Amino acid sequence: MFHPACLEHKPGAGHPESPQRLEAVMQALWEPEFAQLDWREAPRGTREQVLLVHELGYVDAVEAMVPSTGLVLLDGGDTAMSPGSWEAVMHCVGAACAGVDAVMAGEADNVFCATRPCGHHAEPGRAMGFCIFNQIAIAAVHALDTHGLKRVAVVDFDVHHGNGTQAAFWHRSELFFGSSHQSPLYPGTGLAQETGDSGNIVNVPLPPGCGSTQFRARVADVLLPALRRFEPELILISAGFDAHKLDPLAQLQLESDDFGWVTKEVMAIAADVCQGRVVSVLEGGYSGEGLAGGTTAHVRALMGH
Ligand SMILES: [Zn+2]
Repeated sequence: MFHPACLEHKPGAGHPESPQRLEAVMQALWEPEFAQLDWREAPRGTREQVLLVHELGYVDAVEAMVPSTGLVLLDGGDTAMSPGSWEAVMHCVGAACAGVDAVMAGEADNVFCATRPCGHHAEPGRAMGFCIFNQIAIAAVHALDTHGLKRVAVVDFDVHHGNGTQAAFWHRSELFFGSSHQSPLYPGTGLAQETGDSGNIVNVPLPPGCGSTQFRARVADVLLPALRRFEPELILISAGFDAHKLDPLAQLQLESDDFGWVTKEVMAIAADVCQGRVVSVLEGGYSGEGLAGGTTAHVRALMGH
């Protein structure tokens, strides 16, 4: 899933969450080995979809603040909106929900949403960390409400903790959130003892410099068994590639292959418990080369290669 509106969110010169990130992803997926991908134009999300997770007052405030020229700063300046931001975030929401619809209808084995800005830091009532609406959390609730599912899981391997997704899922036993992330690091949440009301949240904090071996061991020992025990009927992936060793904002030191590994592990669980249904959404990643390497490993695994 892709939409050119996602290139028109422009948070300002020098901002790490730039349109060039998505251009790097799209260029990487333009290589011949990805020629069989079925590219679909993401639909525009609806206000009703956004309100599945976000508070009405917040949604109204964001819409009212979108500037006609220049930039408006949210979240103390980390998160900015330009004139194209509203259409960008609405297409992020639309892509994630349409991805769920396509997989549930059996039109696709799985889906990757090449969209931006990222969403997993956005809480129900506030923007945070370059994120305005939380498309992965919205897609999870959409799967419950529209498709009648009873259990939906999100796996988040972005290097930052997905505090927004955790906040949206905390009281909801039908939603599982499993995250691996660097700690300490922004936003400071994601300790192992943060488990949600019903043990539906599993956090795997990892130390700076952790590298491939420790990442794979901790994910295999803690996150993946919990995901399997939850028996989701659909698995969503918050696919951030900022744990890559080339990333300038974090120090987890993963290789591109690690993203292929974790994707294959999640797909193996999906094959066993939910007919392989996986929808992945791009989150962070701030090195063009790291994004390209991580995305190609991830999508190659989704294609079963
Ligand atoms: Zn991140």
